[in-house]
Amino acid sequence: MTYKAPLGPRTAKGWIQEAAKRMLLNNLDPEVAEKPDELVVYGGRGKAARSPQDLQRILAVLERLENDETLLVQSGRAVGVFKTQPLAPRVIIANSNLVPQWATWEEFDRLDRLGLMMYGQMTAGSWIYIGTQGILQGTYETFAAAARKHFGGSLKGTLTVTGGLGGMGGAQPLAVTLNGGVALCVEIDPERIGRRLETRYLDLRADSLDEALRLAEEARRKGQALSIGLLGNTAEVLPEMVRRGFTPELVTDQTSAHDPLYGYIPILKADEDPALLRQRDPQGYKERVLHDMATHCRAIVEMQNKGAVAFDYGNNLRAFAKLGGFAEAFSYPGFVPAFIRDQFCEGRGPFRWVALSGKPEDIYKTDQAMMKLFPDDEGLHRWLREGVRKFKFQGLPARICWLGYRERDQAGLLFNEMVRKGELEAPIVIGRDHLDAGSVASPYRETEAMKDTSDAVADWPILNFALNAVSGAAWVSFHHGGGVGMGYSLHAGQVTVADGSEEAAYRLERVLTNDPGTGVMRHAHAGYEEAKEVAKNRGLDLAGWEK
Ligand code: NAD
Repeated sequence: MTYKAPLGPRTAKGWIQEAAKRMLLNNLDPEVAEKPDELVVYGGRGKAARSPQDLQRILAVLERLENDETLLVQSGRAVGVFKTQPLAPRVIIANSNLVPQWATWEEFDRLDRLGLMMYGQMTAGSWIYIGTQGILQGTYETFAAAARKHFGGSLKGTLTVTGGLGGMGGAQPLAVTLNGGVALCVEIDPERIGRRLETRYLDLRADSLDEALRLAEEARRKGQALSIGLLGNTAEVLPEMVRRGFTPELVTDQTSAHDPLYGYIPILKADEDPALLRQRDPQGYKERVLHDMATHCRAIVEMQNKGAVAFDYGNNLRAFAKLGGFAEAFSYPGFVPAFIRDQFCEGRGPFRWVALSGKPEDIYKTDQAMMKLFPDDEGLHRWLREGVRKFKFQGLPARICWLGYRERDQAGLLFNEMVRKGELEAPIVIGRDHLDAGSVASPYRETEAMKDTSDAVADWPILNFALNAVSGAAWVSFHHGGGVGMGYSLHAGQVTVADGSEEAAYRLERVLTNDPGTGVMRHAHAGYEEAKEVAKNRGLDLAGWEK
């Protein structure tokens, strides 16, 4: 079965239902999803629907759903349709949520085996994944911030060593080369390397560590931007680099370490099959994985001790390495406190949009419109002029950029106007990652090292979720375990649809103001002066507690 978003006139009863249908199928388009046959979109086993039957049932309901009804989805399964009201979300999604004492992979796996749950990751189960581009700009911003902080503004003449070329991790090589640097990416699956080469996220493949290091050294010396994929296991390759006394300028990782059973691959003998090992002895397999994560993480710390800038890239490697026996796993920071928090204080985060027409021209027109709307945002212009030329669209044409509080609403209303005037061929879907300023509690990632130590307070994403629902989002979602795995995060998503109508403008203005507004609020409340300033200067009402 090959999934593809339908194009042309809508067949559902409203554009929101039609958009949900197209985005769900787009998540599973073979150009977009990592393993569409298993309904896996990205991020280890982040799925769009619980089973093929559930997928078909959701699609059937979306087709018949009235404009004053709301479909409820529980861990990838349609479970009820309720009469609500026209401005309510048409879909409310809850994925992978467990009561804290039970919030472990073991309990999740038990329920998963019984067919009672699904892992939604972040945008997989909330139907707004747009392929690797979705993470590319965030990854580009992260490496740009690292370049500004440590290397005078550019990665030229530097080497970054990292692991994982999956759905998200596949953005790393291009993000590094866009910043002028050299990337050496270790990946265990040759097909993933092939896929990144095909989509031009990766420049070339090396067949051995010797060759990879030679190519990397040469490019680094000449100041050339180059990305190299090396087939291998990070738990073997990085310690080997340390043994050889090889130190990169930057070291990080995006293997799917958040999931020790189905994500991270341990060091295997030639005749060993991870699927069989998992099945025969899940506990023994997991112990091997944790041990190897510890070895991997130790190599990162050793590189840091020799001068590399090390940061965790949001996959929870440090926590599992610690469980695997490496006590100093938290010797290096996560990427949010290291590079991103300032942006969160401004409500800046990933803003993405998708052309339901399927026409790349619609996205190119929005690119031009965005540059006119934000004439002074140099980073945005560089991204839209140069960055986006480097990759192909996957599935429905889409775009991403980072925008802040009181910017996202302007962009949403602009797109709605363009649709209304007939400048675009079909409505635009607007959404974001759950990795955002106000939508997530994740103490080893987005909320690591908060100023007031409120890292684990999860009231904030719940407020974000509910506020987006009552503000008129097209669909909303609340998930557990995204990015860093079960027990480590709670987060919310929202999607809106610009179909050119007045109702859409009403919804867009509120959701796209309030959603990033909760990010500014959360950071102001945690004591970040920048966030308080943003609230003051851009008219966000903080109910007076900050005075
Ligand atoms: P993915 O499952 O699509 O890809 C992971 C890749 O790692 C796979 O290609 C796999 O073959 C490879 N891999 C696993 N073990 C390996 C090993 N020991 N050595 C070498 N390669 C190995 O996952 P993804 O979508 O790319 O996400 C990667 C990780 O990043 C996840 O843990 C995810 O939760 C996290 N993540 C980070 C961000 C962020 O912004 N930093 C956002 C989303 C997800």
